[in-house]
Amino acid sequence: MRGLCLLGAGVVAALAVAWTLAFVQMKPTDGESMLLKSPEGLQYFATGTKGFGHESWVANGVPLGSFAVAVPQATWTNVPLGAAGGTRIGRPANVFWPGPDSESTRTDQWGWPLRAFAARTDKPAGGGTTTTSYGIEIKKGTEVVLLPLMPLWLGLVADAVAFAGVAVVMGAGFWSVRRMVRSRRRCCLSCGYDKKDIAVCPECGAA
Ligand SMILES: [Zn+2]
Repeated sequence: MRGLCLLGAGVVAALAVAWTLAFVQMKPTDGESMLLKSPEGLQYFATGTKGFGHESWVANGVPLGSFAVAVPQATWTNVPLGAAGGTRIGRPANVFWPGPDSESTRTDQWGWPLRAFAARTDKPAGGGTTTTSYGIEIKKGTEVVLLPLMPLWLGLVADAVAFAGVAVVMGAGFWSVRRMVRSRRRCCLSCGYDKKDIAVCPECGAA
């Protein structure tokens, strides 16, 4: 029972962490292998395997690789063209875009230490209305961020166990420190009553 409660608290903590990361859009990267520029010229992405967040795209049924971080224009060098093809839109030479009319699905994953929750954004062909699933859209200034709700089971269980473990260790530390302080002050170990040298605690009856 206590273990289940702890695990439940761990799940809540994992969700809180995933939503925080999604909200601040925390996406460090360990390198780049593909760039994507939107027709509006607003988005630049590169692949990366490290990081707290992760986006993957499928356009016209073709995976476009994974995009982990926005890359500043200054780093646009030596980036190989992605395998999925698409429409080249100018500089740098490697940048491409699947086309504004293409159908696409974007999956956002968030969590730490492992990614634990995902959300999905679908854009129909021909520039129709974008729909989101497994996520809650909230406004952050002028942009909209998607808080993920779809569990990624392996990551969620791992994160929940990790957070529950941290709680257990911190709890054990708290109890042992309190015991130590009480024993030094010659107080009752179980209730803290100042029992001096009386063997049985007059307050709670502990021996
Ligand atoms: Zn006592």
